Amino acid sequence: MENYDIIGYPHLVRLNPNIPWKTRGNGAVSIQLGRGGKNKTKIGEIDDRDIVSSLELTQDIDKSDYKEVKNIVRETVEVNARTDDENTNPGFVLLEKRSDFELYKKTVTQIVSIDETKSLLRSLKADFEGYKNCRGLIGATSAIAWSPSRDKTYELISYRQRKKWGSRRDVDSVSVKNMDISCKTTFDNYDYDNEHNRLVPNSPCPILYGIRGDDVKELVKAFKIVKSEPVDSWLIFETNQGTDNHLQKKNIADIQPYQSAIIKGSVVKNPYTIEGGHVIFAIEDYTGTIDCVAYEPTKGFRNIVRKLYVGDVVEVYGGVRRHPLTVNMEKIKVNHLATIYEKIENPVCPNCGKHMKSKGRNQGYKCKLCGAKNDKPSITEKQRLIQPGFYEVPVCARRHLSKPLKRMYR
Ligand SMILES: [Zn+2]
Repeated sequence: MENYDIIGYPHLVRLNPNIPWKTRGNGAVSIQLGRGGKNKTKIGEIDDRDIVSSLELTQDIDKSDYKEVKNIVRETVEVNARTDDENTNPGFVLLEKRSDFELYKKTVTQIVSIDETKSLLRSLKADFEGYKNCRGLIGATSAIAWSPSRDKTYELISYRQRKKWGSRRDVDSVSVKNMDISCKTTFDNYDYDNEHNRLVPNSPCPILYGIRGDDVKELVKAFKIVKSEPVDSWLIFETNQGTDNHLQKKNIADIQPYQSAIIKGSVVKNPYTIEGGHVIFAIEDYTGTIDCVAYEPTKGFRNIVRKLYVGDVVEVYGGVRRHPLTVNMEKIKVNHLATIYEKIENPVCPNCGKHMKSKGRNQGYKCKLCGAKNDKPSITEKQRLIQPGFYEVPVCARRHLSKPLKRMYR
């Protein structure tokens, strides 16, 4: 077989984050192969070799090479997949043409079955192989269906030397903060409030760190700023991370569990804190009401939520939990603040030093002892401690797909 080019960037595609049986990040990758034009760009380094890709496809791979390509993919999956883990159900798919974008849309927002994926693949005459329960076929098919043409970001992923796998990662936080400050188009690098280095994954996987951003050139600059243990290899992916692709505008009555929604409504139950530190309030639209939750790991975001009152108009962004049916908030937009009145403390009589009695709503006060009067109003407009606008969970609690406010205002 002759050598082929990687066309464009490899794609790292995140799928519905609310699927209960997902693997950790619910991600899939896809690569387009073919013969490319002369216009090439470096996208990474593996074994001290530059990895380059072609920006445009000039010719598809020869049919006679399909089998060998498939063998390479199969071997790669079988050698590297952790099939002993019960949640790892890999699959790979080879398709001559990109599958329909709507298929990706469905997999990022809803639940897609293995059976429907297999029958679709058969109808597309795809070459595919699934392992164990074959669930990985769903992600693999969607990763091909995703197109970066609408919205996209990039992630530069660096990998550890094999001997380091499973051990504690050494990535210098000070250098990550420096990178965060000097590379403005990167996002979700460091959580200053919670002192959390978000570049570094928690799982014992071979990834050393990932830098997310909007600009490829700046990612390479950022990569040079971050100080760490030796990097074995690195590669830049084009991704749907940070795009809010999982969210759909919904009326409350139409909300389904395991989806993610943007719901506009007015607060009908003031925020309260339950055991575990989770903060809950309820919103209502013309179709129903639903509870919205800021879970404990969202840290300071809960203090924003606690400032809401009944009557405020908000748009809530988040994943829908099944039991009970609640919205796990990722972001909130405060559209309108209600005017809240509060009763003020009864004034003190200047003669007697005792609190005066109210004569009735808005009729002033009178001292029971000496009869002195005061016509101060008994209620006052409460000063609100929150402004209209967007608020998001801190970086340490951010989901892969959530669009950071930093990207929304760019
Ligand atoms: Zn008095």
